[in-house]
Amino acid sequence: MTAVTAQRPTAVVTGASAGIGAATARALAAAGFHVVLGARRLQRCEEIAREIDGTALPLDVLDPDSVAAFADGIDAARVLVNNAGGARGVDPVLEADEEKWRWMWEANVLGTLRLTKALLPMLIDSGDGHVVTVTSIAALEAYDNGSGYTSAKHAQAALHRTLRGEHLGQPVRFTEVAPGMVETEFSLVRFGGDAERADRVYRGLTPLSAGDVADVIAFAVTRPSHVNIDQIVLKPRDQHSAMRAHRES
Ligand code: NAP
Repeated sequence: MTAVTAQRPTAVVTGASAGIGAATARALAAAGFHVVLGARRLQRCEEIAREIDGTALPLDVLDPDSVAAFADGIDAARVLVNNAGGARGVDPVLEADEEKWRWMWEANVLGTLRLTKALLPMLIDSGDGHVVTVTSIAALEAYDNGSGYTSAKHAQAALHRTLRGEHLGQPVRFTEVAPGMVETEFSLVRFGGDAERADRVYRGLTPLSAGDVADVIAFAVTRPSHVNIDQIVLKPRDQHSAMRAHRES
């Protein structure tokens, strides 16, 4: 595999094969970045990479060797968007499925840890680094039947927010983006491929689109380098909180 080199500053987006990550890859390319797209579904990343003149590399954030090989393929980068992740299941604590919990903690928390450890030194070396982590309103609230996901997102957010203090004085910014309901493959994955159940999540209101979140990420990344947007929370107008939304019947 050839190493990534480019004149444009490089932005690395994890989970770029779908949803928010794919839209972010497109938005950052439009903002002038060479985008490195990572996910398990390489073919999807390659299609987007062709469209935006970016680079697709295989990445499984659950596998430390895959993360190491991914990082080896990147020579220099200014931006890392920790986006890969998601939810599995909706269960009360007393019925928690440890396998689903393990996946959520691995993908959202350890995935963010691994990518950040692998790439942060390179971002700082660029003289103008930026880490964007896509958490969720699940990182800000605990909600019924969501503890596997809310606990993972709280932990991912704690990791991300800690970096802001640990690297104070260094040329790197940290932005947490915490969306509410976004219509992507998220619910399909959460409900194990049950499309009817996934569709119900978005019924009766207009959810955010992946592009809405990508716009916010591109905005944060394109501010002057002395401006650190610490945290952005965005939700559909009709969503008040994780458990409360207005729906037209
Ligand atoms: P999505 O459409 O399901 O996309 C998830 C992305 O993560 C895919 O590109 C997937 O790629 C990637 N991914 C999953 N496991 C991975 C692994 N082991 N290694 C590498 N990549 C992996 O969902 P989305 O809504 O865009 O989610 C993106 C992020 O936003 C997640 O962190 C999610 O928790 C967060 N979020 C979503 C919502 C929402 O309502 N949709 C709200 C708040 C926060 P592959 O399957 O190809 O690997």
